[in-house]
Amino acid sequence: MPVFHKQWTLFLDRDGVINVEKKESYVLSWDEFVFAPGALEALGMLNEVFGHIVVVTNQRCIGKGLLTVQQLDDIHRCMVKTIETHGGRIDRIYFCPDLDDDSPCRKPQTGMAWQARRDFPDIQFHRSVMVGNHFSDMMFGKQLGMYTVWIGSDTCEEMPQLPHPLIDACYPSLYDWAKAIG
Ligand SMILES: [Mg+2]
Repeated sequence: MPVFHKQWTLFLDRDGVINVEKKESYVLSWDEFVFAPGALEALGMLNEVFGHIVVVTNQRCIGKGLLTVQQLDDIHRCMVKTIETHGGRIDRIYFCPDLDDDSPCRKPQTGMAWQARRDFPDIQFHRSVMVGNHFSDMMFGKQLGMYTVWIGSDTCEEMPQLPHPLIDACYPSLYDWAKAIG
């Protein structure tokens, strides 16, 4: 595992990493948003390590008309405030509302990473980590040369076997990974 430091950027998937993913459904309000066990503590630890911390999240529920951008922003405002209360930080959140699997901003496509680098030009993809719970997250990271961490949550695909060409490390939760690198 690399030694992470402030020149590294952390890209985090949201559902299944920061919060509990709703099976075959979406988080449509703050009431439905449940932090994953240990995630708040993990984000406090990761705050000390990484120079930038951004969230990249596919939110097809917007394209489906189940949630407005304003409502998503409200959920994210509450999420970030709670994370900050616990000593963590999210520098920016990127979301893809699109339905189309081929949309350039929908993971596994890399559009959201390029948006982040436009906002933070010192981001280096070879000094970035992508943490997610689906293969689309791992592909997103690997296409850009990132270090990839698989989080095995209940709703994810079957826990992959390492070594795996798309996955550098596997942990049961964001908290377990944060502890391992701290
Ligand atoms: Mg996810």
